[in-house]
Amino acid sequence: MAKIQMKTPLVEMDGDEMTRVLWQIIKDELINPFVDLKTEYYDLGLKYRDETNDQVTIDSAEATKKYGVAVKCATITPNDARVKEYDLKAMYKSPNGTIRAILDGTVFRAPILVKGIEPYVKNWTKPITIARHAYGDVYKDVEMKIDKPGKTELVFTPADGSEVQRTTIFDFKEPGVIQGMHNRDASIRSFARACLNYGLDTKQDVWFASKDTISKKYDGDFRDIFQEVYDTEYKDKYEAAGITYFYTLIDDIVARVIRSEGGFIWACKNYDGDVMSDMLATAYGSLAMMTSVLVSPDGIYEYEAAHGTVQRHYYKYLKGETTSTNSVATIFAWSGAFKKRGELDELPELVNYGKKLEEATIKTIEDGVMTGDLAAITTMDPAKVKKVNSEEFIKAIRANLEAML
Ligand code: NAP
Ligand code: MG
Repeated sequence: MAKIQMKTPLVEMDGDEMTRVLWQIIKDELINPFVDLKTEYYDLGLKYRDETNDQVTIDSAEATKKYGVAVKCATITPNDARVKEYDLKAMYKSPNGTIRAILDGTVFRAPILVKGIEPYVKNWTKPITIARHAYGDVYKDVEMKIDKPGKTELVFTPADGSEVQRTTIFDFKEPGVIQGMHNRDASIRSFARACLNYGLDTKQDVWFASKDTISKKYDGDFRDIFQEVYDTEYKDKYEAAGITYFYTLIDDIVARVIRSEGGFIWACKNYDGDVMSDMLATAYGSLAMMTSVLVSPDGIYEYEAAHGTVQRHYYKYLKGETTSTNSVATIFAWSGAFKKRGELDELPELVNYGKKLEEATIKTIEDGVMTGDLAAITTMDPAKVKKVNSEEFIKAIRANLEAML
C-alpha cells in the first residue's frame, strides 16, 4: 500500500516521561508505516524547555497559529521537586497555560467510549464534552479576613474621574471574611464563541448554565453575553444544522446531565468546569480515556490527552520493569489532528486514516486486549480479557489497523 501523502505539516509537540516513550512507539507502529508524516517538530520535553528558557513552548504555539493544527504530548509542569530533579534554571509555567494564553483558546474534553468500559451513569451512551472558561472568577480573586467590627464595601473608581460607585458588602459586628472577583466581557464573549463554534463543528447542542437567579449581575452578565452572541452570530447556523443552544440554572443542568444520554457540549464557568470535568472523567471510567482539544476563537486546533506524563509508570520503565500504560488518549490526539488536517487540506484519505486509527484502537479493546488500568475496571468476561503491556497494546492496534486499511 502506498503511504498517505500530507499537504500541510502538523505541529508536533513532543513531551515528557512515559507519554514521550509512548509517543515514539505510536509513531513507529501506527503512523509511519501508513502516512508519509510531515510535521514541524518542537521538543517540549523539560530538558529542552530548560535549554531554550522555555522559548520552544512559545515557538510551538506560534507555529500552531501559522499552520492551524497541532498535536501535543503530555508535559511536566515543574514544581519544586522537578526543579531539583532536572536541575532547572527556573520554575517554568505550565506549557498548556502558555499555549492557551497565546492562542486565547478554550479546552474541550471528551471521553472515548468503548464497550466493556461502562460509565457509572448507565444512560450515558454518548460522550459529554465539557468546556471550561479558564479565566477569572475565584481563580483571580482577592480576599480579606476581617478580624474586628467594621463596614466592608465594593468600590468602583472610574478612570475618567466620574462619580465613584460604592455599595456595602456587609457590616461586620464580629470576625468574618470577604472576597472580590471579576471577569471581562471580552473573555466571556470569546468563550461563548469558542463553545458555539465547536458545537457547529461537531454538530452537537451546546448547554450553558450559571446561577443568575442569585447572582443577578455577575452571572447575569454571563447569561446575557452568551445569549447575545448566540442570537447575533449563531442562531441561523444552528437552526440550519438542526442543533440548539440551551441555557438553564447550574443545579437544573446537573440534574439534566445525569438523566441525559450524552452527546452535547457542556459549557461551564471556571469553577463549575474545574469540579465537573473531574466528576465526568471519573464517571466515564478512566482519565486515560479522556481526550482534550484546545480551540481558539479563530479556529486553530491543538489536540492532546487529558492525562499527564504518568510519572509512576516511567520510573518503573527506567528500572527496566514492564509497564502497562494506556496510550488510547494519546493515539486519539494524533487521530484528531489527522482528521482535522485532512478536513482543512481536503484530503479524504487522511481523514479516513484518522477514523480507521480510532476504530482499530476501539476494536482492540472490545476484542479484550487492553492495558492494566482498563482490565481492572472492565465489565467484560474475565476469560476474554488479555492484559498486555504498553508496547503489545500498540502492536495489537497495528494488526487491526493493517487489516482495515
Ligand atoms: P498523570 O500523569 O495523569 O497520572 C496520574 C495517575 O493516573 C497515574 O499514576 C496512573 O495511575 C493513572 N494514569 C494516568 N494516565 C494513565 C494512562 N495513560 N495509563 C494508565 N494509567 C494512567 O498525573 P500526575 O502523576 O499527577 O502527573 C504527572 C506529570 O504530568 C506531572 O509532572 C504533571 O505536571 C503532568 N501533567 C501534564 C498534563 C498535560 O500535559 N496536559 C496534565 C496533567 C499532568 P497508577 O499509577 O495508579 O497506575
Ligand atoms: Mg479540577
